Order: sequence, then C-alpha cells, then structure tokens
Amino acid sequence: MRTKSDNGTSLSFDSPLTSVPGIGVRRAELFSRLGIEKAGDLLDHFPRAYQNRGNARLLSECDPDVACACILTVSSVPRTAKLPGGMTLTKFGAVDDTGRRATVCYFNNRFIEKTFSVGQRWRFWGRVRRERAGFMLSSPVHERAEDESRLPALVPVYPLTAGLNGQLVSKAVSDALSLIGGASVPDPVPEELRLKEKVPPASEAYRMIHRPRDMEEVSLARRYFALRDALVFSVSLGVHRRKLKKGIPPAMKPVPLTPLTGLLGFRLTSAQQRSVREISLDMTSGKTPMTRLLSGDVGSGKTAVAAFAAYIALRNGWQAGLMAPTDILARQHFAKLSPLFEQLGYKTVLLTGSMKESEKIVARAELANGKAKFAVGTHALLTDSTEFYRPGLMIADEQHRFGVSQRAVFGDSRGGITPHMLVMSATPIPRTMGLVMFGDLSVSTLNELPPGRKPVRTFSVDSSYTARLTEFIKKQASSGGRVYVVCPLIEKEEEREDLVGDEYGIYGAGAALCSVSETYEYLSSALKDADITVGLVHGRMKSSEKDAAMTDFAAGRTQVLVSTTVIEVGVDVPEATLMLVLNAECFGLAQLHQLRGRVGRGKAESFCVLVSDAEGQAAKERLNVMVKTNDGFAIAEADLAQRGPGDYLPRADGKIRQHGEFPGVMSADMNMLKDALDFSAAVLERDPSLSTMPELRAEAEKLFSANSRALQ
Ligand code: ADP
Ligand code: MG
Repeated sequence: MRTKSDNGTSLSFDSPLTSVPGIGVRRAELFSRLGIEKAGDLLDHFPRAYQNRGNARLLSECDPDVACACILTVSSVPRTAKLPGGMTLTKFGAVDDTGRRATVCYFNNRFIEKTFSVGQRWRFWGRVRRERAGFMLSSPVHERAEDESRLPALVPVYPLTAGLNGQLVSKAVSDALSLIGGASVPDPVPEELRLKEKVPPASEAYRMIHRPRDMEEVSLARRYFALRDALVFSVSLGVHRRKLKKGIPPAMKPVPLTPLTGLLGFRLTSAQQRSVREISLDMTSGKTPMTRLLSGDVGSGKTAVAAFAAYIALRNGWQAGLMAPTDILARQHFAKLSPLFEQLGYKTVLLTGSMKESEKIVARAELANGKAKFAVGTHALLTDSTEFYRPGLMIADEQHRFGVSQRAVFGDSRGGITPHMLVMSATPIPRTMGLVMFGDLSVSTLNELPPGRKPVRTFSVDSSYTARLTEFIKKQASSGGRVYVVCPLIEKEEEREDLVGDEYGIYGAGAALCSVSETYEYLSSALKDADITVGLVHGRMKSSEKDAAMTDFAAGRTQVLVSTTVIEVGVDVPEATLMLVLNAECFGLAQLHQLRGRVGRGKAESFCVLVSDAEGQAAKERLNVMVKTNDGFAIAEADLAQRGPGDYLPRADGKIRQHGEFPGVMSADMNMLKDALDFSAAVLERDPSLSTMPELRAEAEKLFSANSRALQ
C-alpha cells in the first residue's frame, strides 16, 4: 500500500497515523490518547463546536470577553521592539470599515513583520480589548481577506489533549481529509437507506462535518453519522443475538433464597422481588440463555438484585461474574458482596486492571480451578486470560451506554454453553427507547425506591450565587457532611470563544467553563480557614490516584471533592449531602440525575445545586426538569425528547463518545433510529452473513471487536 503523501499519492482509511504529514511516532502517541490510531480515525474526530468567523464585527461591536472575527485593513508598518528578558513585541495599526483603529500585537514572532503590509485586508479572530489607548488585539489568528467570501465562515474546534494544540489537530484532520479523499472512504450505510433518510454519502458527510459551508451542512452530516452508528450498532447486536439464541443455557433449578435474604439486613422492595422472580424464571427455564436488562433508577437497589441472580447460579454449582464500569465501583461492589457470599460458603475474588500482576494471577487461577465461585471486577473479567471453570452467569453493571458490555458478554460463550446474562443499566432507560432498541430483549424494571429515602432538594442558580454557595459548602462540610463539586473541564483549555454548533447554546453564549483545577484552587483557599480539606479527582489521573482520592473522601479525610464526571457512576458515600454542579448546562439530564444520585444516600437532608449562566431557553428548560422531578424515568424521557437517542449509541468505530466531543447532541430522531433497526433486521433475515454488504459487515465486526478490546 502506498502511503507517503508528500509526493501526491493518497492515504487510505487504514494507513498508519505516521503517514499523515507532520505526525511522527511521538505525536502519534499523543493522538492515541484521543483514540486516534490510524489515518482514518482523524476523520472520526469530530469538532466539538465551530468558531463563527463568518460573522465579522466592527471593532465597536466586539464583546471584550469573547473571541470574535473582525476584518481590518493594515494601516501602519509593523515594528518590532525588544522587551526585557529577550522577548520581542511586534505591533501595527489596522482599521475597520468605519475607520476605527486598533493596535494588533504579536509576541516573539519574527515572521509577523514580513506577513503584514499596509493596505492589506485581513480577517482576525481573537478578543478585542478596549484599553485607554484604543482597541487592542493580542496575538489574534489571522487570515488574508482579499476575497472574504472565499474564507470559511465556520472553523471547527476540536477536542484536544495535553501536548496537542488546536492548530496541530486541525491541520492533521484537514490533511487526512484531503489525502483520504472521497473515493476510498468506506460507507457502511447502503444507498437505499441513505436515500430514504435523506443523508449525504460518507465522503460528503466527512467534508461537511470538518469543512461546513453553513450549520445546515453540519446538521446533515450529524444525521448521517447518527444513522451510521445506529445501523452498525443494531447489525452488530443482531448478529450476536442470533448466535446467542442458538446457545445452550447452563442448567439450573429454582433454589430457596432465604439464606441470602436473611443476611441482607433489609426487606426487598416489591419491585426487587418481582425482578428476582423474573430472573429466576429465565435462569431456570432450560430453554435459552437469559438475556435480561435490569433498568432502575439511581439508588433503586440493583446490586441486591444482582446478588440474588449470582446466588441462584452459585447454588446450582455454577460460577458468576459481576462487571462494573470502573475500578472504584468494582472495589465497592466487592467490599459489599464478598462478606455476604463468604458467609454463604462461596469464595469471591476481585479482578481489576489496576491490581498488581501477581494478585491478578492468583485471582485468575482460583477462577480457573473453580476454587473461587464469584468474580467481581472490571472488564478485566472478559480478557482471554481470564478463564472461568464453570461460568453460569455474567452480570454487567453499565454506564449510560448500555450495549457495550452486552455485546462483549454475547461473545463469551465457552465450552458450547452460553452463560446467562444480566445487564444493569446505571440510568433508567426511557421506555420508548427500550422498545425500539431491545425489541425481543426482556426487561425488568425497578420503579420503586427502598423505603425511607428523602428526596434530594434541587435548586438551579446562576453564578452570582458563588459566594453564598461557598458558605453553604462550608456549612455542610463543617457539620459532618461531604460535598461534591463537579466541573465540565479538567483544565482551563481555551479562551472563551464565540462558538456555534451546539443546539443548547452550551458554548454558544461564550460561557466560561469551569475547570477542576481552578475550582480546586479557589475552594482550597476559600475553605482553608474553616479547616476544610478539598480533594481532587479527574479522568487524567492514574487509577491508583483516583482511588486514593475517592477513599480519602469516603473516609472523611477530605470533606469536599472537586471532580469531573468520573464520580458520576455508582459510588456510594452515605455522608455526602451536597452535590454542586458548575456549568450544569454542559451536562445531559441523565448525567445530572446520575450525579444527583451521589447524594441523599444517608439519613441527613441532601441538596443538589445546579449552577448555570446559560441564556438559552432549552438549557433553562432542561435544568427546570431537574428541579421539578426526582423520577429518573421521567427525566430519561425528557432527555430523549430533547437530545434524541444518539447518546444511547456507541460510535461506529467502537469508541465511547466523550462529553463535549460531539457537542452533546446527536441528530438522530427516533424515527430514523427505528428505520435503521428495521433495516438491519430485514437485512439479517435475508442475508445473515451480510455477504452483500461487506462495508457494513466490516464496521459491525469492528464495533464488536473494538468493544471487546476496549473492555480489557
Ligand atoms: P443502584 O440501583 O443505584 O445500583 P444500589 O444497589 O447501590 O443502587 O443500592 C443503593 C442503596 O440502597 C444501598 O446502600 C443498598 O444497600 C440499599 N438498598 C437496596 N435495596 C434496599 C432495600 N430493599 N431496602 C433498604 N435499602 C436497600
Ligand atoms: Mg449501582
């Protein structure tokens, strides 16, 4: 395969990343942190928003706090001055169409003097500050504007990672787009379906998402990708479900459940009892392996139901596995469940990726020789090196996006017998969504909370409340409570920008996004006098560091925990009484509900405060839903209605969509999703091996194997 591009040859989707100009081995490693491994992955790295540079303003119209575009004519020759410390400053004057003058300056850039000459028109992008001497632009982005109509109006803004700046990522994506070109882009969506849904072909969709002429094109492209992901997902699921239906289930008989009931210390709610009954019937039917979804609100007690399912398997002489989405959660499940099962005479082992290799070897050996009956862990449970002696049941405690481990478990048929499978969704799944996506999958619903829970009181405020909130944090923390503070960003990555592309106006209003690092510093110093210690958790920390921070918080060594949404799923700290979410407009409703579920787990009254300055009507309505109701199912339906079903789909390339990666919104609607599912069912009926649709088959296989790999 020819890959070098400098001499005019082109790349293919699967070309190594290092064949893209400007990307060497070291940079390729940085890109892999963004999930970009091959040249084609760059095309699937979607902008998180767009700079609206087409909307050029006069100097006097610019908001000094927000970056914007200005078209200016250079009016004086650039001059460079030396500054103390070896820095240089290049300055020149430029005027807008009304004759108002601004000073433009750049630091340490010796090319600038030669770049600009008097009389030229340029488009600048940056903040226009008002100083005593007049308007001032400091190191703005500049584009020659001889013919403004030829400059792109919308400039994509990509998600970044440390070491890769916006310019680098934009250039890499743009190069990949030019080099891969139209013809060699695989299109898993068959033309028939594409025409029906009125979406462009893949090559056009990639062009439209990365180099849109207008926002219309962006939404068309998004529709294409939503359709693609829905189709690939349902085909992949369909293939494995067909396999599974032919599987032989592990033989089990009904067992008395009282030994476990006696140890729990509470009575099951009637919803829990009903779910346990449904699970028991499935597991003892003797016909097909169980494929059941347990859907329940935050705090509805899914873990207890899982324990009963495991108990049924163990009493029948089989082994069981419980997979949690994170290390922290796996350890928490283990700490709760292993003493219970120990008392019942069954050995439980923990198996997570962050354990020492020697510990993993011991745990694996005990699973393989059958000494351990129950394994609690992360996706480490599904690696090839983990072998069960007699696997009878796999339980997956999932994040929002169900289906991921579901597929992994589908593939987990060993020795001709397919274990029963129970998937627990961390968030309630909207009923309509469940019907569309699962069709024939059985669902148990926990629509009832254990008795005695006080609903969390929720408030929505703007950032003018910061001082009062700091006092509130102080009050909660000094009276024995714990406080979570959640921010959308880890570090202050970019300046405020005048972005478009987000239907909620998340970034559109140029809102300043709070970062964990700033908030941590602010609170640490604001709370120091009150003797309150602040902890910090985010996704870029090592998992041992994350664990340590969580443990400190759970044990009360820190009373306030500033974090990103890594704490979102499942963690149980009963002393937590206040959940503060900054820039709440950045989060989906389901996510906010999950976050709120971290408090109100103990006896004390708990609060959730959503802080947002978002002006948009949709954002306000969304936060209002949170204030009005605590019912997770109602919230999930509202979320689905507002955001569409895209959040429920994994990406066609098998990667999990990160928040902010695709401005939170996928432009699929339920009808399109249903069409994709119907299409996939019809295709599989007609052509089970997808021999007539090789590109679709390739993507479906990729999704399945990408997930099995990602799950290690
Ligand atoms: P989730 O459904 O969010 O996973 P958990 O399984 O973590 O919820 O349960 C939340 C809390 O409720 C746990 O502390 C658990 O011990 C408790 N719990 C579960 N079922 C009951 C019950 N029937 N009565 C009282 N407390 C219960
Ligand atoms: Mg849970």
